[in-house]
Amino acid sequence: ERQKKIRNFSIIAHIDHGKSTLADRILEYTGALTSREMQEQVLDQMDLERERGITIKLQAVRLAYRADDGEEYLLNLIDTPGHVDFTYEVSRSLAACEGALLVVDAAQGIEAQTLANVYLALDNNLEIIPVINKIDLPSAEPDRVKQEIEDVIGLDASDAVLASAKAGIGIKEILEQVVSKVPAPAGDPDEPLKALIFDSHYDAYKGVIVYVRVVDGSIKAGKKIRFMATGAEFEVIEVGAFKPRMSIVDELAVGDVGFVVAGIKNVKDTRVGDTITDAKRQAAEPLPGYRKINPMVFCGLYPIETQDYNDLREALEKLQLNDASLSFEPESSTALGFGFRCGFLGLLHMEIIQERIEREFNIPLITTAPSVIYKVTLTNGEVLQIDNPSNYPEVGKIEHVEEPYVKAAIIVPNDYVGAIMELCQNKRGEFVNMEYLDLNRVTITYDIPLSEIVYDFFDQLKSSTKGYASFDYELSGYRQSKLVKMDIMLNNEQVDALSVIVHRDRAYQRGRIICEKLKELIPRQMFEVPVQASIGTKVIARETVKAMRKNVLAKCYGGDISRKRKLLEKQKEGKKRMKQVGNVEVPQEAFMAVLKID
Ligand code: GDP
Ligand code: MG
Repeated sequence: ERQKKIRNFSIIAHIDHGKSTLADRILEYTGALTSREMQEQVLDQMDLERERGITIKLQAVRLAYRADDGEEYLLNLIDTPGHVDFTYEVSRSLAACEGALLVVDAAQGIEAQTLANVYLALDNNLEIIPVINKIDLPSAEPDRVKQEIEDVIGLDASDAVLASAKAGIGIKEILEQVVSKVPAPAGDPDEPLKALIFDSHYDAYKGVIVYVRVVDGSIKAGKKIRFMATGAEFEVIEVGAFKPRMSIVDELAVGDVGFVVAGIKNVKDTRVGDTITDAKRQAAEPLPGYRKINPMVFCGLYPIETQDYNDLREALEKLQLNDASLSFEPESSTALGFGFRCGFLGLLHMEIIQERIEREFNIPLITTAPSVIYKVTLTNGEVLQIDNPSNYPEVGKIEHVEEPYVKAAIIVPNDYVGAIMELCQNKRGEFVNMEYLDLNRVTITYDIPLSEIVYDFFDQLKSSTKGYASFDYELSGYRQSKLVKMDIMLNNEQVDALSVIVHRDRAYQRGRIICEKLKELIPRQMFEVPVQASIGTKVIARETVKAMRKNVLAKCYGGDISRKRKLLEKQKEGKKRMKQVGNVEVPQEAFMAVLKID
């Protein structure tokens, strides 16, 4: 019957190996979109995703496919993000599937996130179908990549599909393998309803819309449902599927993927990973939820305009609705006023949330420098978790400090081994081991403080290997370190939002660079502004922003109009992002200056 014809699968890959392009081809091939509707990478809906060329939020789509066996199948494809910061989203979408296409670039071979994603798929007991993509490239080596999949992952790659998402080669074969290899959903239609919430979003008219995978039973309009974790109950108004636009259907049955609208106004009632059941005939136990993942990087978000504070809270609540890895709580700063301390999975995650708040909610922000969570043991035995340098205790009260370390696995061609080792050493890394993937590539493993990864590790990794390195990491635990808090003073006033925690051996160098950077970024004021870095009461670096002489345009000698205009524009832009700190005007970038440590 119907259930036997359902296949739920997702696509996993290292970033840029062609997952989104392949998803587009599959949509096109199954006729989910007319060619007029078809625009490139329809699954990457958010503007930000298109611009950055990365997939952030997972998306689901229902497809109809008539297979070679003459039967019509219903395929649910769930797209996943590829960046290391978004592993959490990947594991969410995999939990709603029985199979996964493993896309590997025929020229690049296995990369760090290829492995990380395969492990997630194996954890979820998924059937994995290897797809070797980009075989149209002159540098493609499908046989070598097949061998690599067998040697490194241990998967049988003899049936791997040779494909080109770009040229539309191998698409039919992929769909045939999905139909023949991915198992049909196993649930029981007669059992009480159990549906896994794998995502949700807020709609201004309909309230919270939850995305579900039905595991047992069924769900339709009029049914009274209960969210098992929160206990909230609602009457279903409508259910639907993603085709890929949201369209209403009569019922979501066992194995179906779709959405549920139930007039849910309060975002706190729904929780991703929770189970929906029938309020009148409840399931005995919820489905295994998601592993709760904890944010690793924290920063302060402050509205530039004080009156935006409540809007900022609402924006964070809405974003948190489908991003459980985002955390926030109110904080205040002498320099910046009222804002929120927010926790993220990594730097990219942080940048994206910040950009979404500014674009989608129109709230200009000041962001403070990111920090990890330090464990500070006091002389009285108490242990504090510090995610904000301004809460760092006085030196005299500290017994010792620990910082989080990650195990970083870097895959790189042989030629760059030296460069990687130098980089990791510079980041206070400790060598763990080195293994050959094949004749030309190695995996190098290092233990590195997370705080060093948070500062420009990615960028340096890319530039020191011409982009050939790939990288994955996981938290490996806490270690004792010689850390100190460094304060920054502007015009002799300490600016709490600029304080950072640094390793003692690097404090002088960092202090000097931060002061230089701030001198560059802070525009001249009517008076001279000393910029100082200090540890405790000891000043370790100092620069001076000279007093303003005349109007900036005076320097342009009247002649060059375009240069004048540029200067004016620059000034205007600067104005938007200025924050008055004491009696000094500080531009937004200054609060991130501590990141620029090259
Ligand atoms: P994702 O990050 O895995 O979603 O990768 P994308 O689908 O965004 O593709 C990354 C880049 O590879 C884009 O520039 C695509 O045009 C290109 N690409 C994808 N598939 C193919 C292919 O089969 N052949 C070639 N030559 N390029 C491809
Ligand atoms: Mg993509």
